[in-house]
Amino acid sequence: MSVSVTQQKMFIGGEFVESASGETMEVLNPATGEVIAEVPRGTAEDVERAVEAAKKAWVEWQDKTPKDRMALLLALADVIDENAEELARLESLNVGKPWWVAVDEPGVMSDNLRFFAGAARNLEGKSAGEYVEGYTSMIRREPLGIVAGICPWNYPLFMAMWKTGPALAAGNVQIVKPAEQTPLTMLRFVELAQEVLPPGVLQVVTGDGIPVGDALVRHPAISLVSLTGDTATGKIIAANAAQTVKRVHLELGGKAPMVVLDDADPATVAEAVKIGGYFNSGQDCTASSRILVSERIYDDVIAETVKAVESLTVGDPGTDDEIGMGPVISAEQQQRVLGFLERAVDAKATVLTGGESLGERGFFVKPTIVTEVEQDAEIVQSEVFGPVVTMQRFASDEAAIEMANDVRYGLAASVFSQDVGRAMKAAAKLDFGCVWVNEHLFPLASEMPHGGFKESGYGKDMSIYSMEEYTRIKHVCVKLA
Ligand code: NAD
Repeated sequence: MSVSVTQQKMFIGGEFVESASGETMEVLNPATGEVIAEVPRGTAEDVERAVEAAKKAWVEWQDKTPKDRMALLLALADVIDENAEELARLESLNVGKPWWVAVDEPGVMSDNLRFFAGAARNLEGKSAGEYVEGYTSMIRREPLGIVAGICPWNYPLFMAMWKTGPALAAGNVQIVKPAEQTPLTMLRFVELAQEVLPPGVLQVVTGDGIPVGDALVRHPAISLVSLTGDTATGKIIAANAAQTVKRVHLELGGKAPMVVLDDADPATVAEAVKIGGYFNSGQDCTASSRILVSERIYDDVIAETVKAVESLTVGDPGTDDEIGMGPVISAEQQQRVLGFLERAVDAKATVLTGGESLGERGFFVKPTIVTEVEQDAEIVQSEVFGPVVTMQRFASDEAAIEMANDVRYGLAASVFSQDVGRAMKAAAKLDFGCVWVNEHLFPLASEMPHGGFKESGYGKDMSIYSMEEYTRIKHVCVKLA
């Protein structure tokens, strides 16, 4: 199935509209560098229009029952399932995702929305009773009102749905700002869902971080901003949101270690690196970007991993569904990744495979493995967000944990061992919001929370825990006589 771009306007108050300024911005196919769409370059005025529409929508939406909210979320899930192939093809085109990566996303998204359809009917305050003689107290769990979701480019519709599910389930109305590079699937999704979406309940404003994201963050009528993005962006947003004492939910960068203990099987580890490190061209906040290997099996793991990584086929996913890895998102990102590699080599690191761009057009970087790096090296400490993993050796399990935790991020980690006791000990000590054992990246379960520690952010996506982000607690106290 080939896909065409049908929706290039933003979605405010139930209608597809141009930006107030009339300006547009180009959207590229990163595999070719070609322009595939032009979407409105939104302004603060467009955010104002969306907030006004959200206020109108809120008047009726706040009285909807959990059953009504469930019905909407189930209908949205159906829209995704019924249009799964189109949405996956469009995401593949806009992000450069290989088909094997893009094809699984719709099913995970619709499952997520269905989970939150159920959660809408399971919201509760913890208690009601007479805590003071003559009075009954009760807890109301309430929606926040108008909430904003600011999304990244690596999983555009996926991350938006992680925010839309709990936002609508809790009874909020939501304004979504897609990343400037990748607005197409979110626009197409609301177009497909237009008939089931009450106007103003879910809106999409396209444009740059500044002014559109910034206007959402600063708007006094918006009660929460949920960002998935870079740690630097998260810090700016948290500071700016403080001006209106706005609630902030931050899903930020990562630098996930894969800790390989001395009893792990090198071939299994190599396959896990091939997926964990290069899935979505390594543009994944939980990518296994640091492989820490016991010195006893280091040489074997290196040999197996180079073999596995060199077997990845890299190319334009639009030409072949069997492609293993696509481009990175932009020319800027390609240069950023190559810059990290250049500086690592200057600091005497060894590039075992890859280390350079690929092809005449599009934004490709070869799958890369870097070794002989110090713990304090930039490439070990900073998020590269490309198809690059570093490999380091350690002498003991304790040293491995110390190295694993010695970064400012705390999103995800994994440990590989055949001894469940050793793996469990490591899992307890790893300072990350998610730890996989003998696995990295998968599986994702809608019931399980996703969120980081340290500079990877705070708050949770997915699971019942994310409802905490999107609700508030009110104490109502009634005098009995
Ligand atoms: P980014 O921070 O550059 O942009 C994210 C969004 O923030 C975009 O929509 C952008 O327009 C907006 N933005 C930028 N500046 C803003 C400002 N001053 N005010 C308001 N909004 C602003 O991130 P990106 O490059 O699109 O995505 C990659 C990053 O996202 C990586 O760091 C990655 O680790 C992170 N990420 C994290 C998770 C997670 O769950 N923790 C998941 C996916 C991606």
